[in-house]
Amino acid sequence: MKRRLTLHFPREAVHQPITYRLAVDFDIAAKILRAQIAPNQSGTMVVELSGDIDELAAAEAWLESQGLGLNRAPGQIQIDPGACVDCGICSSVCPSGALNVGAPTWQLEFDAQRCLVCEQCIPSCPLNAIALVLDRPELGPVAP
Ligand code: SF4
Ligand code: SF4
Repeated sequence: MKRRLTLHFPREAVHQPITYRLAVDFDIAAKILRAQIAPNQSGTMVVELSGDIDELAAAEAWLESQGLGLNRAPGQIQIDPGACVDCGICSSVCPSGALNVGAPTWQLEFDAQRCLVCEQCIPSCPLNAIALVLDRPELGPVAP
């Protein structure tokens, strides 16, 4: 199964070979969807993990034991239909096929079931029609 996580790295954990350890120790493939980590600073990484469900649970526990903060599906993507002009730019950056513009309507269609909440579509929209609505607003937005 697949699981999408936002990982928050404290300064001490930035240099850890996280994806290597996930692959070797838990047989989990980690696809990095977005990352902002500077050397010797804290950082944020959005990853899609693929593997056995029990191994995923063990891997998440291991990540937390290493001092990483885990944010599981912090919110949902929302499209403002009043602002969207169906240009399709966002669909070209979507890694999961959740956004599509095609025949017969040529209007943007959003399949929330396929959305990984990777947030790659948000900055791609020239009209700022895409937003992340947090399920837990007290967590604050994920750093861009
Ligand atoms: S957040 Fe946007 S780019 Fe990422 S999977 Fe969902 S719709 Fe696609
Ligand atoms: S990039 Fe923005 S305006 Fe274009 S289809 Fe996507 S949401 Fe609509």
